[in-house]
Parts: sequence; structure tokens; C-alpha cells
Amino acid sequence: MIYVLHIEPPYKHAAHYIGFTENGDVEQRIAKHLQGKASPLIKAAIEHGHKVELALVLEGDRALERRLKRRGGHGHSICPRCRPAYLANRRAIAASKEGHPPSGPKRKERNADVRRSMG
Ligand SMILES: [Zn+2]
Repeated sequence: MIYVLHIEPPYKHAAHYIGFTENGDVEQRIAKHLQGKASPLIKAAIEHGHKVELALVLEGDRALERRLKRRGGHGHSICPRCRPAYLANRRAIAASKEGHPPSGPKRKERNADVRRSMG
């Protein structure tokens, strides 16, 4: 099983912890995390007063765990709590990129005019 811990607010650069545990062992694993016994990162986050919550549990093996860890967004794209904001942010970035072209053609026209007047 794959589990995703959501850290609120993010601890340093870590907003999530993606981990793997054997089937049926997730609750014990999370309990260990919350006691600071499973991951130095989660231990430190809790010690610094950050809230750590189980955000997601997925059927999967270590190969899936590696894939999720490699995926962009540092867990934001799979965490149900962060996904809406992550997707909205990505849409905003995409929209701002699409917003640039209108100034492009004008510049080309101006260049054409210059070339015409020079020729
Ligand atoms: Zn999250």
C-alpha cells in the first residue's frame, strides 16, 4: 500500500511524504509516523509543530511509490487536499503562457513595415 502524508504547513520544502507499507499495515505505520518513529522528516515536522495528516492511501507496490515520488508537484498532484489548488495554479500558468501571443503578430507586422520602407 502507498500512503501520502500531508504536512500543514509545509515543513521546509516538504508538503508531503509518500511512503510504502505492506498491505493491512497502514494504520500501524501511520501511528509510528505520528510518534516520530518512521521517518526523520515527519519526526522533525511534528517536533516543529506542523500538522501531519494521512491524505491518501493507494493500492500499489514500491514501483508505484517510486513513480509517484518522481512525479512533479512534490505530491501536490496526488494529494486530495492540495490537488484542486495545484491544478488551478497549473491552469493559471498555462493561461498566462497562452496570453502572450497577441503581442507577437504585431511585432512581426512592424518588422515587415520596416523591411518594406527600407526596400
Ligand atoms: Zn497535500
